[in-house]
Amino acid sequence: MQPTHFIGAHVSAAGGIANAPKNAAAIGANAFALFTKNQRRWESKPLESEQIAQFQQNCQSANILMDAILPHDSYLINLGHPNDELLQKSRQAFFDEIARCEQIGLTLLNFHPGSHLRLIDTDQCLARISDSINFALEGSNNVTAVIENTAGQGSNLGHSFEQLAQIIEAVEDKSRVGVCIDTCHMFAAGYDIRTETSCKAVFNEFDRIVGNRYLKAMHLNDSKTHLNSKVDRHESLGKGEIGAEAFATLMEFEAVKGIPLILETINSDIWHEEINWLRYLAKA
Ligand SMILES: [Zn+2]
Ligand SMILES: [Zn+2]
Repeated sequence: MQPTHFIGAHVSAAGGIANAPKNAAAIGANAFALFTKNQRRWESKPLESEQIAQFQQNCQSANILMDAILPHDSYLINLGHPNDELLQKSRQAFFDEIARCEQIGLTLLNFHPGSHLRLIDTDQCLARISDSINFALEGSNNVTAVIENTAGQGSNLGHSFEQLAQIIEAVEDKSRVGVCIDTCHMFAAGYDIRTETSCKAVFNEFDRIVGNRYLKAMHLNDSKTHLNSKVDRHESLGKGEIGAEAFATLMEFEAVKGIPLILETINSDIWHEEINWLRYLAKA
């Protein structure tokens, strides 16, 4: 029988991508996130077919489905860059990331939408982000672009449901665009999910403004910083400003079934425990 919930963490791919599914299996995960290249560099070596075959084999041995894997793109990419030349550079790099995912057989690519750097206005930047997604989707077939909500730090966009909806609105192929909600970012951006009532209200608002059909993944993180701090600092589940009740509420949502639920919490030594706790909450 297929599991109802896919729960894991952003694991290391040091020594090659084939190590990521092994690291995931070691913490009892049936989902994971990874970088398919060095996330702080523009360039990377192309993947070798042997590496890819090993990766797929390790996923199979760990019983991890390709759809339960959420690769994350490089931090250097800004798909809303105000400078045309640098925007092109980001688009090319993003396109390469999508191509890598396709090569590996992955179906999702998680990314931070982009920043206006205070040089263009919000609408212009959001339009650039949508166009960047269109460009990437046009040249690929099987990968869904998964936009992550942000904490609203600096000039980073995508911190409100309205902005996420606006990006999606201008994407041509709506079947290959989606959203990854990071609970820490959401809280830092001003969405109070601390109690069962407030958490339900926030996610009803998400469904109304963005639509649950676009929820393709989640990052489950508690927050070191307070509500609306606009500062992105992750904490272990239940140990931060968000607290346990939010995660207990979330895990009962129908919308979290069948999508990767990824921990990016700060203490990897307790990922195994956190995963078990989430499974217990989901009654999975
Ligand atoms: Zn995240
Ligand atoms: Zn974060």
